[in-house]
Amino acid sequence: MDSELFNTYSNYLKKRYGKTVYRVGVDGGFSCPNKPDGRADHGCSFCGSFGARSSYLGDSEKVIEEQIVKSLSFLKRRYGAEDFILYFQAYSNTYSDCETLEKIYNYGLSLGNFRELIVSTRPDCIDLNKVLLLKSYIKDGFDVWVELGLQSCNNDTLKRINRGHSYEEFLVAYNLLKEHNIKIVVHFIFGLPGEDSSDILDSVKKISLLKPDGVKFHNLHIPTGTVMYEEYLRGELSFPSSMRHAEYVADAIEYLPAETIVMRVNTDTPGTRHSVPGYFLDKAVIYNTIIDILSDRKGYQGRLYGT
Ligand code: SF4
Repeated sequence: MDSELFNTYSNYLKKRYGKTVYRVGVDGGFSCPNKPDGRADHGCSFCGSFGARSSYLGDSEKVIEEQIVKSLSFLKRRYGAEDFILYFQAYSNTYSDCETLEKIYNYGLSLGNFRELIVSTRPDCIDLNKVLLLKSYIKDGFDVWVELGLQSCNNDTLKRINRGHSYEEFLVAYNLLKEHNIKIVVHFIFGLPGEDSSDILDSVKKISLLKPDGVKFHNLHIPTGTVMYEEYLRGELSFPSSMRHAEYVADAIEYLPAETIVMRVNTDTPGTRHSVPGYFLDKAVIYNTIIDILSDRKGYQGRLYGT
């Protein structure tokens, strides 16, 4: 384990490839079924991706190429990078028919020396055909990962934040991906309305028992103009401080299986793009605080797994 206390993503990548491999985030032009151009009125109540999404209308290859070529040339020039991971990050990247998905994934992968494909999506955008398509990319040691937004295992919370899917729907998608050897990262948000530390740890313990390949922990942040921002203005919400968030993460890490990769410990959206909580300690400080908390209590990843 990195720092000997928990498994970080950078260490995992160095061990896996023997060198630094760089992620190239790309917006594939997908939308989300929980947005106004899908089936919902406003999406998740914290969602700052405003309005309906227009697709690239046949221009997807050009737009994707521009993003990837720009990122690759920057990474090569700045770091001498040679190997990359293609990361479809924006919105729900399996929200289309398989033919379109295949065309977009293939095109993106053809543009560089990619070692992995990562696709971020929602549980209700996963079905067998999409899983089989994703599985088809697992060849020659080429890893395929799906990042599944969950945020909480508590159905009341999921309803409260208008996620548009239940914990049970998440489990169906998770098990389908697992059956087909696709690596899974589960996203959590700590500090959601109505949740205290025991609710947060209940979710972490449930997911830990599924042995996910990776997890991402986020602190709640709220962009201006969202439904949740209105709740905040009405005085209905409070937020964990940076220190409290670090404690939540340290607690969560102890309940994870030792082999799960901790891919993120806090939200990395720039402060300029969200209104609340405003000031929040940066990633390096949060990371060091988590290490300090674990060291002080002689804790480490997996110590409380299954308890
Ligand atoms: S799933 Fe993501 S893109 Fe869709 S509404 Fe929720 S936060 Fe927004």
